[in-house]
Order: sequence, then C-alpha cells, then structure tokens
Amino acid sequence: MIDLQGKVAVVTGGTSGIGLATVKLLLEFGADVALCGRDRQRLDEVAAELVRAFPSRRILARPCDVLQPGQVAHFAQTVQDELGNASMLINNAGQGRVSTFADTDDASWENELKLKFFSVIHPTRAFLPQLEQSQDAAIVCVNSLLAAQPEPHMVATSAARAGVMNLVRSMATEFSAKGVRVNGILLGLVDSGQWRRRYEQREDASQTWEEWSGALAQRKHIQLGRLGRPEEAARAIIFLATPLSSYTTGSHIDVSGGVSRHA
Ligand code: NDP
Repeated sequence: MIDLQGKVAVVTGGTSGIGLATVKLLLEFGADVALCGRDRQRLDEVAAELVRAFPSRRILARPCDVLQPGQVAHFAQTVQDELGNASMLINNAGQGRVSTFADTDDASWENELKLKFFSVIHPTRAFLPQLEQSQDAAIVCVNSLLAAQPEPHMVATSAARAGVMNLVRSMATEFSAKGVRVNGILLGLVDSGQWRRRYEQREDASQTWEEWSGALAQRKHIQLGRLGRPEEAARAIIFLATPLSSYTTGSHIDVSGGVSRHA
C-alpha cells in the first residue's frame, strides 16, 4: 500500500484494459488521475464509471490521440491547469500488429514504427516540464516481451518494441539529471481489449473464452498456464511509477507469466 494523495498521474490509453486497470489502482491509492483515449463515447462512459467509484478523487478524461503532437500538448496544458503538475506519466496507449516480414509493406512498417515510438515521444516531451517540477517523478512505458524476444508473426511490432526498450534506457540516462526516472514493463499476453477482439473473431464460435484463452496459453508456452490480468500489469506499473522503486531507472520488469526465454 502506498499513499499517493496529492500526486497527479497521467495514463495514456486509460479507457480500456491495462490502462484502465492502472487508472483504477492509482485512484485507489489516492492519486488524482488524467487519462486519454481517442473514442469520446468510451471516454465519457469510463469517466462516469470512475467518478461513481471514486467520488473523492479528481479525474480528468480527455480525448487525445497520442500520435498528434498538438493534441498531446493541449492535453498536457489541460492537466496542468486543472489538476496541477503531473509527477507520473504512464505511456500505455497503443496496440500490436500481426504480420510477417513477407506481408508487411512499407506503409505498415512506417505506421507501426510511428505508433510505437511517437506514443512515447509525444507525451514524454509534453509532460517532461511538469515532471521536472516533482521530487519523485517517473515515466513508465508499457512495452512487450517482443522487445527482447521477437516473434516472426509480429515482425514490425517486435522491432519497434526493441527500439522503445532502447529509448527507455537513453531517456533514463538523460533525465536522471532532472530527477525523472524512466522504466518499462515487458508484457506477455494480457487479457484486455486486444485479445477480447481476437476472441470475437475466433474460427470456432462454440469455444468459450476460458477454452480459447487456455489453448492460447498452452500454444504460447506460458508457464503459469493462463493470460495475465490487467491488474497484474497495473501493479508492476504502479511499482515503477511511485517511490516504491525510488532507486530503479532504465530497467524493465517482466510480466509474462514465465513465457520469457531471455536472461
Ligand atoms: P486495449 O485495446 O484494451 O486498450 C488500448 C487503449 O489505448 C485504449 O484506451 C485505446 O483507446 C487507447 N489508444 C490506442 N491508440 C491510441 C492513440 N493513438 N491515442 C490515444 N489512445 C490510444 O489494449 P491493452 O490494454 O491490451 O494494451 C495496452 C498497451 O499494452 C498497448 O500499448 C499494447 O500494445 C501493450 N501490450 C499489450 C499486450 C496484451 O497482451 N494485452 C501485450 C503487449 C503489449 P482508443 O481506442 O479510444 O484510443
């Protein structure tokens, strides 16, 4: 348990899955939270749910596409105006791309590299001046185990993820003088919007979620035998975003249920 009262946290992609679980945990620990996503209707629904569940917290939900620098700058200004300076930034927004080298064209490479890099670069650039004002500021980048252990059927995502892992280390070094820690988590398969959408498109419509995801876990050699839960990723994010990890920067936590084969 950690007391985050008086702290302001920002979660990109906070309307679903891991981002939403992180928002809820931050609110439980007392933080004021700003979240963004692109879908206004979902933002409004999520904001209403959060305000009902956490009436005493300050919650700011705004539409913002992290790939649009103007929108991100505006979001950062709104957070500062309405909640005060953020001391935690969770770069979470995004999704993976399934394609092999043979079926990834140049436009798809560009889109995927742009999404993975600029979903980190734009919010980091926009919020850094606020983070620098804090004595215990931290940035957490939600990354994938693909960064260290690429999969050929997700070739562009894997390469981009490796680049972001490298970027986290560079930022950690550069920002240490400013007192801002930068870390990442490496996810395996987490039960969230992405996997629920793939489940909806399954070939055998009679398969339940438990059957479908259990078979997936077996195929992927997940040692713990199941997909991760969004709250399990959120707990690692909270550790890295708060002074619980005050002596940790430039590092990554593996949250993959033991699927990792790297050292
Ligand atoms: P979800 O699809 O459940 O949630 C994604 C969130 O990101 C939504 O709130 C979505 O809202 C938002 N989002 C997507 N693109 C943008 C954008 N350009 N600007 C702002 N918000 C955006 O996904 P997960 O919770 O599964 O994924 C969270 C992160 O974890 C992603 O970066 C994902 O790639 C990564 N990850 C997930 C894994 C998993 O197994 N679940 C494995 C490895 C990595 P909206 O669509 O309204 O914008």
